[in-house]
Amino acid sequence: MKIAIIGTGYVGLVTGTVLSEIGHEVTCLDINENKILMLHTGMSPIFEPGLDEMLQHNIANNRLKFTTLAEEAFTDAEIIFIAVGTPQGDDGSADLTYIKQAAKDIAVHIKHNVIVVVKSTVPVGTNDYIEQIIRKHLKEDIEVHVVSNPEFLREGHAIHDTMNGDRIIIGADNKAAGDKVESLFKSLNIPVLRTDRRSAEMIKYASNAFLAVKISYINQISNLCEAVGADISAVADGMGMDKRIGRAFLNAGLGYGGSCFPKDTEALAYIAQENAVSMSIVKSAMEANKAQRQLYIKKVVAHFNGDVTDKKIAVLGLAFKPNTDDMREAPSIDIISALSSLGAEVSVYDPVVKKTELLNDCKVIYAESKEACVNDADVILLVTEWDEFLTDDWLLSEVQIKQKVLFDGRNVIPKNFSKVLVK
Ligand code: NAD
Repeated sequence: MKIAIIGTGYVGLVTGTVLSEIGHEVTCLDINENKILMLHTGMSPIFEPGLDEMLQHNIANNRLKFTTLAEEAFTDAEIIFIAVGTPQGDDGSADLTYIKQAAKDIAVHIKHNVIVVVKSTVPVGTNDYIEQIIRKHLKEDIEVHVVSNPEFLREGHAIHDTMNGDRIIIGADNKAAGDKVESLFKSLNIPVLRTDRRSAEMIKYASNAFLAVKISYINQISNLCEAVGADISAVADGMGMDKRIGRAFLNAGLGYGGSCFPKDTEALAYIAQENAVSMSIVKSAMEANKAQRQLYIKKVVAHFNGDVTDKKIAVLGLAFKPNTDDMREAPSIDIISALSSLGAEVSVYDPVVKKTELLNDCKVIYAESKEACVNDADVILLVTEWDEFLTDDWLLSEVQIKQKVLFDGRNVIPKNFSKVLVK
């Protein structure tokens, strides 16, 4: 099938690449010229394992193209995906600026019947709104159906998740349009749930908020374990063996970050407030998540008896989680900013994020290697659990040999390893 994708970010680019991999003809559109220039050379503007290879293979086979011109992307497209960002607005609601623009772009340029698929995470009712915008600005007398198809991929595993997802949700008010979208993914053999558009939109927010609650819950249990002398890893394992609970998302640590959970929980709370429905559980999870970072910072400061001035602090990891270059809402930013503003000398190292403008206001040393980062450090903070830090027990031996205190922000170092560990 001929497909156009609006937005070549983490979702749009991976979706387009995978759809081309399974045989569709895909044109990806973005307003960011630099991204498109890079993509023309077969290089991905984002770090995502396996993406470069798959991109290059499909570009070479003429199934995957990139453009900044909407009219070019939409020519002959039977289905147009919207995968633009829906960032958090000032009041916590989802900012739909990019969505509205994408809908207008479609209306202005499309000249034939088309199905519009909304992959972006959008508040309930937005698919209806997109349909209204398109109908209002259409230049031709054509049929347009809007179908909701929320995305569940995890950055760092995006290719795998897109090809092996747990489910594909298709929210369609027009059966034939839903059937056509379902047929796109047929060869992936992923279970499909068909529903109405509003339920599909809600499934995405409800899923992300549930996972955020699970993370905050285990973090609070972890804090209690520390106070009463229990081992959170054993507790999580024991809980996870119960099939009703499951072990996933029971890893205690610094809490969630990234471009989805923080903004999607805020947006869900906003939608609930607008509808006069309590969302107190999700709100508590949001508060607990913020508190978890502060608690970590407090522990580091307490280690130096309240004064970190001129202390050498090594931070391992910048990205919000391993295997991605995404810095949106990364805990590292809050932690480094706080310690740096208190006078600490912070050195950082991340295998992929070499520098970030989010730390422009801080005095930070960007180390060239993990070894250089921890070399003179008084303490080490493990903030992102990249494999590189854990393979061959590198971090363990660093700490053991040099007897440095490690603040294990991801609870990945075995408890019995050393007395100098602080979680
Ligand atoms: P992103 O910010 O990485 O990418 C969005 C892209 O859209 C950018 O390249 C931007 O230039 C482009 N864009 C904006 N307006 C455009 C327009 N009118 N025409 C063409 N291109 C335009 O965003 P993302 O992380 O891929 O997220 C996209 C959506 O998917 C969001 O709603 C997000 O909540 C949702 N989502 C993200 C993830 C994730 O892990 N990143 C997972 C599931 C769902």
